Amino acid sequence: MARQLWRGVVFACITFCMIISHAVAQGGDKILIIHGGAGSVRISRQFLKLCDNYSITITGTITPAHGTAKKVAMLAAIRAGYAALQTEDDAQLAVIEAIKVMEDSPAFNAGTGSVRSASGEVEMDAIIINGTDLGTGAVGAVRHIKNPITLARLVKDTSEHVFLVGYQAELFALNSNQMNLVPTSSLIANWTTSNEGWTSNHPRKQNRAGTVGAVAVNSRGQIFAGTSTGGLSGKMDGRVGDTPIVGAGTLADDEIGGISATGWGEAFIRYRVASRIAGLMEGGMNASMSISTVLSGMASRIQDADGGAIAIGKNGDIGFEWNSEQMAWAYSKGVDIHYGVDRGEDINVPLDDSVSTGSTTTESTTPTTPGGSGSVGRKGGIFFGIITAFIVTISVV
Ligand code: ASP
Repeated sequence: MARQLWRGVVFACITFCMIISHAVAQGGDKILIIHGGAGSVRISRQFLKLCDNYSITITGTITPAHGTAKKVAMLAAIRAGYAALQTEDDAQLAVIEAIKVMEDSPAFNAGTGSVRSASGEVEMDAIIINGTDLGTGAVGAVRHIKNPITLARLVKDTSEHVFLVGYQAELFALNSNQMNLVPTSSLIANWTTSNEGWTSNHPRKQNRAGTVGAVAVNSRGQIFAGTSTGGLSGKMDGRVGDTPIVGAGTLADDEIGGISATGWGEAFIRYRVASRIAGLMEGGMNASMSISTVLSGMASRIQDADGGAIAIGKNGDIGFEWNSEQMAWAYSKGVDIHYGVDRGEDINVPLDDSVSTGSTTTESTTPTTPGGSGSVGRKGGIFFGIITAFIVTISVV
């Protein structure tokens, strides 16, 4: 009896020590998750009316060609962002680098490739949030900024404010001596040329969904979330969506997790989507379930409300869910990249692109549940610790 008791005590002590030392040695998982927009997002009434006038059909979905362009750019974005996590253990840099790659790709509705407003302007919104001190920088309706996420960071780091909009935000960029203004024509992707009126017969007949967002956590549990968008096609000039609003399209809090959303911004603001997701996560629900619960709740309260979100919980669980037709998503925990656009799609490629690159790789497709979610990668180490403690206890006591 005494021997059994001793065994129990020794087993518990060894297990405890091994788990603690493993956790200290490893730190938490470094995770980066991104999205490249939800398909089938709302389109403004003005835009629909104009499309009617020009007999343009709106499908609102991500076409196969567009999906491929998004996937290639998402792989580049994950690789650029994850490099910052790997080398610097810097979650902010990971978010910014990943978003910059997507802003620079015309496959997305953010930075270069942004959709046009009712008057044919490009007006972009962006935000970055530090989950540790809740520092936040956001910009709305900026017209001449190549990388709005960089300006959002500048607002966070060098102004006393959280949110700057329009002309004054651009002036702030200029006065910083760290950023230049660019002409609207340089932000217009080659699928719509600068001298072409936005209502004429060009490929804008499809609402090219493609807001971009990223959430990252480093080994110390510091979480950053960022989102960047050109908004909705044909929106009123001056309209700002959910993206740069804390608790609507984006949220980060080390004590809860990080969230970046995409979809019909007006509904996301009204339903306080990111806040509600965070509330469920705080109550113990996993990231994936929290997102789907909130999206269903939103759709039941607001007609036709659709979109999606990505999230990382404070314990490292990841979620990516949508109630629109599609959502472009990708994540990495350091070994490989998982990504997809269509429901049920989960393509797996190595993170290291010297092993294989882009869409020409030997990708393996693993069917998953729609959306899908991951869990913390510390489980293997904990399991190893328990087994070792068991063997040591049996042989020693
Ligand atoms: N949420 C963005 C907005 O309404 C659009 C999108 O995510 O597609 O501005």
